[in-house]
Amino acid sequence: MQIRLWGVRGSLASPISNEEYSEKLRYILKQAAGRPLDGDDRIDAFLETLPHMYRHVYGGNTTCVTVTSDSGTVYIIDAGSGIRPLGDELMKGPCGKGQGTVRILFTHFHWDHIQGLPFFKPLYIRGNEFHFYSTYKDQEDYLVGQMKTPYFPATFEGTPSTKNFHYIDPRERKTLMLEEGLAVDFYPLKHPGGSFAFRFKQNGKIFILATDAEFTGEVIDSQDSSRGFFDNADLLILDSQYTLDESFMKIDWGHTSYTMAVNCGIRWNIKTLVLTHHEPSYNDAKLFENYNGAIEHRNNSRTELPEILMATEGMVFDL
Ligand SMILES: [Zn+2]
Ligand SMILES: [Zn+2]
Repeated sequence: MQIRLWGVRGSLASPISNEEYSEKLRYILKQAAGRPLDGDDRIDAFLETLPHMYRHVYGGNTTCVTVTSDSGTVYIIDAGSGIRPLGDELMKGPCGKGQGTVRILFTHFHWDHIQGLPFFKPLYIRGNEFHFYSTYKDQEDYLVGQMKTPYFPATFEGTPSTKNFHYIDPRERKTLMLEEGLAVDFYPLKHPGGSFAFRFKQNGKIFILATDAEFTGEVIDSQDSSRGFFDNADLLILDSQYTLDESFMKIDWGHTSYTMAVNCGIRWNIKTLVLTHHEPSYNDAKLFENYNGAIEHRNNSRTELPEILMATEGMVFDL
């Protein structure tokens, strides 16, 4: 499986500000002073020495993740604003000729997880076939609703692509076989209105996306069954919107602190933990601070695992 991150921001798309850009530039120029930087090779080598937050922007697009199975089939999870650049990429292939098949799974239908769909170009190409999967019976109504007049100039049902809706009854607790050898399981998360974690398993490798989830010590303790679901994942991308202090001010808002996310990662024996659904009011410097806090918290727990990363647009994981 290959997992790629197209949108990692929570709640609302939030581009980098000019002030923040200037601060990054200032830092980089200070580091560069006095170094021989003639030629791309030397510049690239210098850039490699910079901390992650200066080499990259974490990204302002809301949630969108792709899972490419070992057979090469692409599955999209959520249609936050990150699905717009993904759509541009897909248009270079069969989707651009009206011969594409697009498969989208929804964790839930809060705006930040569907708002990119009206800007997803393959939707507007006749001949493309869409398959929408969700644990919400009314998913079609929700997608129609966000594009109703006066909210958007085109209607969802008026777009010329073909659409199929697949309802997954979460009470049945059945494993969904998306294709031979690719199993997906679902798990209900604590979040206003609900949200579902997805667990992909193929060739013995496990990837879990659990976003829009409020994990507290109580929730983890009271959900013994969650152990079976989350245990031993190779890659867990987990909601960690807040600092611990902020999470105490936002109880029942449906998101997790990075501290608690690390506790989850340790408890569930996760190999790689990726912190995501970044709070829109946190700039890159704040996210970098949180990342360092997460590493410190793990180290204080006297363990080297999980490996911890901050979700960044464009990140790719091969399992
Ligand atoms: Zn969200
Ligand atoms: Zn949500």
